[in-house]
Parts: sequence; C-alpha cells; structure tokens
Amino acid sequence: MTRKIAVVGAGYVGLVTGVALAQLGHYVTCIDVDTTKVDQLNRGELPIYEEGLRELLLANREAGRISFTAHPKRGLRSAEVIYIAVGTPPKEDGSADLRYVESAAYDIASYATQECVVVCKSTVPVGTNEQVLQWIEKEKKEDIKVHIASNPEFLRQGSAVYDTFHPDRIVIGSNSSYAWDVLTEINAPFEAPIVKTDLASAEMIKYAANAFLAMKISFVNEIANLSEKLGANIEDVVSGIGKDQRIGEAFLRPGIGYGGSCFPKDTKALSHLGSDFMERLRLIETTVEVNDMQPSRLIQKAIKRYGDLAGKRMAVLGLSFKPGTDDMREAPSLSIVNGLVDLNAEVVAYDPVAMERAATIFEEGVDFASSVEEALTGADGVFILTEWPVIKNIAPDVYAARMNQPIIFDGRNCYGIEEMKEAKLEYYSIGRPPQF
Ligand code: NAD
Repeated sequence: MTRKIAVVGAGYVGLVTGVALAQLGHYVTCIDVDTTKVDQLNRGELPIYEEGLRELLLANREAGRISFTAHPKRGLRSAEVIYIAVGTPPKEDGSADLRYVESAAYDIASYATQECVVVCKSTVPVGTNEQVLQWIEKEKKEDIKVHIASNPEFLRQGSAVYDTFHPDRIVIGSNSSYAWDVLTEINAPFEAPIVKTDLASAEMIKYAANAFLAMKISFVNEIANLSEKLGANIEDVVSGIGKDQRIGEAFLRPGIGYGGSCFPKDTKALSHLGSDFMERLRLIETTVEVNDMQPSRLIQKAIKRYGDLAGKRMAVLGLSFKPGTDDMREAPSLSIVNGLVDLNAEVVAYDPVAMERAATIFEEGVDFASSVEEALTGADGVFILTEWPVIKNIAPDVYAARMNQPIIFDGRNCYGIEEMKEAKLEYYSIGRPPQF
C-alpha cells in the first residue's frame, strides 16, 4: 500500500531513509530546518556524499515521489507515517542532547492532522520515545490518535544506500499493534528479519550494538599496541583469532581508532545512562578511553623518528572518518592534523571528497593538495589516515619517487610488511614491527 510519509530531518539518515521509501513507491516529504540544505535538495543537489544516492534522488524527484521543505506544516499535514531522523548530538557531559527530537515532537503536535505512526529513527536514550509521545499528546492541536514506534537505524555511512536496502535486521519497538502492522508492511520489501519488541528494548538494541562494535575496535587496538611492543604482527593475530567462528574477523581492524557521528557519541551516551541509573558500564568507559588515546600513537611514532617535527613537510592522506563519506565528525584526522600543526610541521592534506568540509575546520596551518601525488611531492613523511582506494592502492614506488624522505606512518595498515620491505621503504604501522 502506498503511504504518505513525512521524514523530519534530512541528514545522512533522514535523506537516505526518505529516498529509499520513495523508491519503494511511497510519497515522501522531507522536512529540514536548514533552508540551505532544503534549497540544495530541491535543485537536485546533494548536501552529503553517499554512493548511489544522487541517482535515486533524481529518479524519485522526477517521478514526483519525494520533495523537500523547511515548513513543517507543509510536510506533516495529512502524513500517515512520520519518521523522526534529527540529530542527537552529545552534550558536554556526554549525555544525548534531545532538543531537536523535542522540537520535532512539538512540530508533530502542532501540524499532524490525522491518525499517524511516529517512528523514531534517531538514536535516543531508553525512555525517550515514551517522552516523545507525552510531548505530542500534551500539545497536539487535533483530536487524532498518535502511535509511537522506535525503529533504530543501522546504516553505515559510506554504504548507506546499500545498507538501507540490505539490512541485517529491522528492529521495530512499539506498544501499538497498529504501528507494528503499518511498519511491518512498509519494511516488508527489504526482506530482512524483523525483531519486534517494546520501545525500551528497541532503544537499548541500538546503543548496545554500537557499543559492542566500538568495544571490538578498542579491544583489537589494545592487542595491537601490545603486539607491537612484543614483536608480534597484529594482522596475523587477527587472522588467527578471527577464524574462530565464535569471534569472527569483522570489526577487528587495528588502526587509529573509531570516529564519526555515532560510535563516539553513542558510547558516551550509554555510559552516561549507566551512571544515571547507578550501573557503571566499565567496559564501555574503557572502550572510550582507549579510543581517545589511539590517534596520538601515530604522532608519537613520528616524534620518536624525527625528534623535532618543526618545519618538516608532512603529507596527510585521508581526512574523513572512514572511506566512502565526506563526514569529518570526530574523525581521528582532526586530532592528528591538529597535533602536527601544534608541532609546527608543514601539513599538506589530500582527501578525495572531504577537503571542502575539512577546509572549514582546519582554518590555519594546513594546505590542501589536489591529488595524492601533489601531497606527496617533497614531503618528509606521510600519514595515511583514511583507507580510500585511491590511497591504499598507491604503488610503493610512488612514495620513493615523490617524497623528499619516503617515511610512511600508516594508521590503517594499508600495506603488507613484506611489500614495504621489498620496496625498501621506511614504514610504521599499527600493531606490527616497523620496517626500515
Ligand atoms: P545529521 O546531522 O546528518 O542530520 C540531522 C538533520 O536534522 C540536519 O539536517 C538538521 O538540520 C535536521 N534537524 C534538526 N532539527 C530539526 C527539526 N526540528 N526539524 C527538522 N529538521 C531538523 O544527523 P544524522 O547523521 O542523519 O543522524 C540522525 C540520527 O540518526 C542521530 O540520532 C544519529 O545518532 C542516528 N544515526 C546516524 C547514523 C549515521 O551513520 N549518520 C546511523 C545510525 C543512526
């Protein structure tokens, strides 16, 4: 059945969700307070980079199934299903800032005109959906029935479109059978197992999933740091433990730590929630602590190698928090680039898609190159921070040909140790013996 759907918040999650629902044949209006973003989207331009999104957006705009507005009234009027996909950034104390969710709830209360299902896709602390329903019930202008459901999002930036159409599972938490029926029907074409549960469990599933994945990364980074000291090779260690089916190799990639808009904030929010309820989550607290220290390890290797970095020309390859996205939120590159600038190194950075965004963040002390080769030319060292294909596939002889001193600090273990040895390059990576 084709439905009239509103999506509040047209960021990474809201936009991809809106476009996917339009692709399934529904009529979707995305509402965003950011008028620049709305204008861009109405011109068919994308404010974010995600593979495959542009084509889907243009096709569904053309078919008249998706539109964008900054006026909540226009989008919410007569919507049967309303998705909330606004940001839930961290407050200073680590807890989730729910002000955008609250504002979305009040808009729904003001402008919804018929019985509807309000579906929260934003990642929110346990209890928030109950609160959203109360906000709406308290302020609603029309005598309509409002059902609430939690439908947490698991897409990964960089493969958001693929993930939306191929989810491992879909979680629907609600106390309303009407909401369950509507959402089961909307989600049926995705052909994924549906976990039906209550609101609190659905909210907890999202935080627990992200915390577990973050914990795997901090775990492997701790083992990598020790392996390095003891002469073990973390890649072999991961291969050895990951073949155990109870463990698996996924998310055991050593590196400079996790970043992005989710893991850092969600681990902190969960930890904060634990403290609020006198249940300290020590594993999560330590996960955060390990992650906060991990980026500086690469800089420590450079300090050990050069002594003084002042005046050294350092190429930085990759700025986004991971490949496939231009998102710089909480990217490890932020602390590494700032660390190099603080040490008075001359930084020349390159990223295939994130440079425009990065230029607004690194205001001083960083030059941007238009290619990998340009960044490497004349450099005294290179920091590999994001494993984009264009970066991890650089042939080893390019470093020797372009750089003043071909010294590589690889934060993503893009190369095999043997390969670097053969190329006679000085190479420092994570959790493996240095090559020189
Ligand atoms: P985002 O910052 O990219 O987008 C949020 C959008 O909401 C912005 O465009 C903002 O202008 C808009 N907005 C804020 N208040 C509004 C309001 N009252 N009405 C209309 N629009 C409003 O955020 P995101 O990355 O899409 O994340 C959204 C939520 O989804 C967060 O809770 C996040 O934790 C969760 N999530 C994100 C990802 C991800 O990979 N980005 C994955 C899973 C879950």
